[in-house]
Amino acid sequence: MDDWLERIAKLRQWTGHGVRAPHKPLLLLYALGRFQEDADGELRYSAVEEDLKRLLIEYGPANKTTPAYPFHHLVSDGVWEVRTDRGPGSPGTGVLELRASGAAGRLAPELRSALRREPALLGRMARVLLDLHFPPSLHPDLCEAVGLELEAAETDPLLVGPRQRRDRRMRELVLTAYEYQCAFCGYDGRIGAAPVGLEAAHVRWWAFDGPDVVDNGLCLCALHHKLFDKGVLGVGEGHVVMVSQHFVGQSAAAREHVTALAGRPLIGPQAGAARVADGHRAWHTRQVFHGSPRPAATR
Ligand SMILES: [Zn+2]
Repeated sequence: MDDWLERIAKLRQWTGHGVRAPHKPLLLLYALGRFQEDADGELRYSAVEEDLKRLLIEYGPANKTTPAYPFHHLVSDGVWEVRTDRGPGSPGTGVLELRASGAAGRLAPELRSALRREPALLGRMARVLLDLHFPPSLHPDLCEAVGLELEAAETDPLLVGPRQRRDRRMRELVLTAYEYQCAFCGYDGRIGAAPVGLEAAHVRWWAFDGPDVVDNGLCLCALHHKLFDKGVLGVGEGHVVMVSQHFVGQSAAAREHVTALAGRPLIGPQAGAARVADGHRAWHTRQVFHGSPRPAATR
């Protein structure tokens, strides 16, 4: 089992310097989800292209890309195989060729046997991929998007234990620095004395060497945390809120809670607490934020 976990952990190695490369992990998560449905099924490129494109748009960085790259290149990692109507082997990364040749991929045969032999392996592989490439706030959405069902029991306590302990301390420090208010909208809900719907967001993701410190954190309400992790919201120069031009919402709620925030200064932190460091802010803008920011909203 450990061999396979090591192998998929290595999908990270060529990224380096905090650059996100979620293409292979997303394809692999998608393939694991489909394997749960049908262990021998093949994924025809032409049939899954749209699904994979959507995943890359929603969970990848803003740069243009095609699912053809991971579909072809994942073969060299030993976890994936591709054949065409002509026989075994991938035709390369040409989209037209992948479609026309009837290219179809699936998990490598050795991996499929290992997954049959050790049913716990699938969940552990998925956890490694999720932990190494995405922040926890996106894990449930991603599992749903790729059709993966992970039981809480499959979670490896050794893998997530230390991080949960660290996260709790960071949460307290960040929430206090921002005086229990969302840095984007000022939301400050409580039940009794306990804050509710407020979270400590990592600006540079923990999975990409983002430290658990106040200058890498923001106190955000649950909605703004999700939109920040999905690249709809960002922090621009001068610590103002950026709203992606890709975001569209016609309702009064969408305008009030999202588009109207464009250009507003962040709320907090309190005097003496560290603001978001420029290096972390710049990482988020490059690696997570989608496209260009909208101009400042007129009020
Ligand atoms: Zn908020």
